[in-house]
Amino acid sequence: MNRFWDKVLFTLNGCWDWQGGTTRGYGMFWLDSAMVKAHRVAFVLFYGITLECIEGLKLLHHCSRTCCVNPTHLYIGTQQDNMTDACLAGVMARKLTEDDIINMRQEYASGVLNQYELAAKYGVGQPKISEIINNKFWRHVKEPLTL
Ligand SMILES: [Zn+2]
Repeated sequence: MNRFWDKVLFTLNGCWDWQGGTTRGYGMFWLDSAMVKAHRVAFVLFYGITLECIEGLKLLHHCSRTCCVNPTHLYIGTQQDNMTDACLAGVMARKLTEDDIINMRQEYASGVLNQYELAAKYGVGQPKISEIINNKFWRHVKEPLTL
């Protein structure tokens, strides 16, 4: 999904501004021959879920900027008990194992994946990835020695 992140400008104030096409202020992205709001795509990529998972749910912006696609600036504005709960509960409750942490640091250090790709792969937020990589979290997990 590099095609997606290529259109995102990571601004200093924390907003991720969509640089592609917009409709009524919302970034739009072509996905599987359909136009999807870019912030919804960012949200599902980031948390490793599918668009079906958030179908019928409104994603609102904490920052009030509709062109922003930073998933951590988004929150679910309507609750529907039926279909989506299981899927979203999985996202929010996703637990990382120590093996995940070690793999993540190695993938990052070797340049295989960037922080956003890691976030999408492991289903956690990029700020958390950043903290893990910078050893603010999970400090007790020892990396295997590499020679
Ligand atoms: Zn924002």
